[in-house]
Amino acid sequence: MSAPVLILLGPPGAGKGTQARMLEEEFGLVQLSTGDMLRAAVAAGTDAGRAAKAVMEAGALVSDEIVLAILKDRMAQPDVARGIILDGFPRTDGQAAALDALLAGAGQKVTAAVSLEVDDEAMVGRVSGRYTCAGCGEGYHDEFKRPASAGHCDKCGSTAFKRRADDNAETVRERLKAYHAQTAPLIAYYDTKGVLERIDAMGPIAAVRDALAGIVGRVAA
Ligand code: ADP
Ligand code: ADP
Ligand code: ZN
Repeated sequence: MSAPVLILLGPPGAGKGTQARMLEEEFGLVQLSTGDMLRAAVAAGTDAGRAAKAVMEAGALVSDEIVLAILKDRMAQPDVARGIILDGFPRTDGQAAALDALLAGAGQKVTAAVSLEVDDEAMVGRVSGRYTCAGCGEGYHDEFKRPASAGHCDKCGSTAFKRRADDNAETVRERLKAYHAQTAPLIAYYDTKGVLERIDAMGPIAAVRDALAGIVGRVAA
């Protein structure tokens, strides 16, 4: 079987990043987060980063042109041959079509698109309480995922943590609107292709992980 191509679909706060990192560890897949790539471009001050910065702060979607250029660069690196988990991509019809074309060029297709199904209202609390380790990027939450030893990252021991500029209640509402208008239609797109899986992502992180690992083990192991 060729290397799996998994997509995690879901609104901001659904748990895409959290779950993608766990799947990376368990299945040896590579997490590709366009949000992380865009934040790196903003931090580096590249042309793409300068164009994306204000759009991201407002909670809108960055143009397909910029996102596709960044993703294609990343997909040209050799480690993606292990199989990938796309986290936060595609987010528009245009991105989904471009992904299909890119994969077809390599004789591949999407293995599964997993929709993490959640309630919008709960997402405001998830996103507002989110923070990450500045050393290794491990994700945490003020209420739902605290480090085992307060103030020390479980993974790397770092004592430095950071919060995203766009993780505030007001911007989250804009991002939820963008999700429903532009990204949620992709659920039907992948359903039509016969690769859609849905999971209840309102439960605890470990329960979502088990449901997801069951799917990945079935379609991609
Ligand atoms: P996304 O990548 O979909 O935006 P994250 O994985 O960053 O979402 O999760 C958002 C926040 O919610 C993080 O702080 C994370 O620790 C927390 N979180 C993730 N999944 C759950 C869950 N099932 N229950 C409670 N909190 C969660
Ligand atoms: P979340 O899952 O919490 O919404 P991400 O880190 O995936 O956060 O994305 C943060 C921001 O980066 C988005 O609000 C959007 O502005 C931009 N972004 C990330 N991925 C894409 C994409 N595939 N298309 C357009 N914009 C994107
Ligand atoms: Zn860490």
